[in-house]
Amino acid sequence: MLGTRRTGRNFLFVPGPTNVPDRVLRAMHVAMEDHRSSDFPKLTMPLYEGLKKILKTRTGQVVIFPASGTGAWEAALTNSLSPGDKVLAPRFGQFSHLWSELARRHGLEVINQDEEWGTGAHPEKIEQALRADMNHEIKAVLIVHNETATGVTSDIAAVRRAMDEAKHPALLFVDGVSSIGSIDFRFDDWGVDFAITGSQKGLMLPAGLGIVCISEKARGKMAGAACRKAYFDLGDQIKANATGYFPYTPSLPLLYGLREALLILDEEGLENVIARHHHLAEGARAAVKAWGLTTCAKEPKWYSDTVTAIMVPAGFNGADVIDRAYKRYNLALGAGLSQVAGKLFRIGHLGDLNELMLLGAIAGAEMAMNDVGIDVELGSGVGAAQAQFRASTKAKVEKVAAE
Ligand code: PLP
Repeated sequence: MLGTRRTGRNFLFVPGPTNVPDRVLRAMHVAMEDHRSSDFPKLTMPLYEGLKKILKTRTGQVVIFPASGTGAWEAALTNSLSPGDKVLAPRFGQFSHLWSELARRHGLEVINQDEEWGTGAHPEKIEQALRADMNHEIKAVLIVHNETATGVTSDIAAVRRAMDEAKHPALLFVDGVSSIGSIDFRFDDWGVDFAITGSQKGLMLPAGLGIVCISEKARGKMAGAACRKAYFDLGDQIKANATGYFPYTPSLPLLYGLREALLILDEEGLENVIARHHHLAEGARAAVKAWGLTTCAKEPKWYSDTVTAIMVPAGFNGADVIDRAYKRYNLALGAGLSQVAGKLFRIGHLGDLNELMLLGAIAGAEMAMNDVGIDVELGSGVGAAQAQFRASTKAKVEKVAAE
């Protein structure tokens, strides 16, 4: 029988779940223990402090649910809003769409600002909508910081400025699922009221933790929120967390993994982590240019440092590239979702990643494209990314020498 085993490591380049570092895998390999023991808070308490560092907050309160990012979306909405409340939600990709739909299912009145996919939130339009809302019926603004479906990052600082300019009291909810821990995120400076993330992207863990950070202002809204919740009641969590415990059984391996992942991020230094993601993303973008292709992100101001969505030429199907890459090269690329299904494929470049790993994915993507008949020159993307890495490293060395 012909062997069907795929040899070597799978090159995991979907934009989450990301590679779990071996150190984290080892840290998760633990025997179960009593989550009500007197020792347990020694594990949990530092996790909140570690996450606050990643979120850049002093006053935010972090809650960790056994859930994924979607659960964290739901927790944030239902604990601060009531059915019939209006929320303003720019929509420009599959994740901003799904969050809006989740809000609708909880009885919220969602006002979507539909933007072209490949662009992001427009602060000036947000300001306009808030200025027009004289009676302050809009209770929240929902922004996906990094739209993973299209590889677009929105400017949250500018959204906050727009809200302040409009002198509007709405809460600012930010989905940082594919940005937090990889792209600069400033909970306090940007006046974020709810930040939402999951464990399987920048935090380099398996999926299974839904993380919410809550501002003081948002905590003040919780008592009056009439949306229904039980499992996702932030009040239950906050009460139990105060002494280092959970209202129900937590996932021990994930908590041990989180402890190790936070240590790894701290060892590299958060600013270095952010700079590394930018450096790698620049390499991916150089490859796309060398292939003669375009990113879904329409302009450099929308470029994401965690995921690059690459448009395939007319007449080709992105799904064929992905399938070829997987079956022939053991490389997992991200699919086009919904509106952009078949029109693009995505390279996730976030988490535990270095230049050579990304060059492997770029090599595999160009081989897969070539195999399905797309006219890209073999080696062109790899060469361009290498040159980009070389140039930006040289510039960095010169800058340090000049200082
Ligand atoms: N928001 C964004 C930006 C995402 O990329 C994802 C998942 O990829 C989600 C939300 C949903 O998170 P989860 O799949 O962890 O529920």
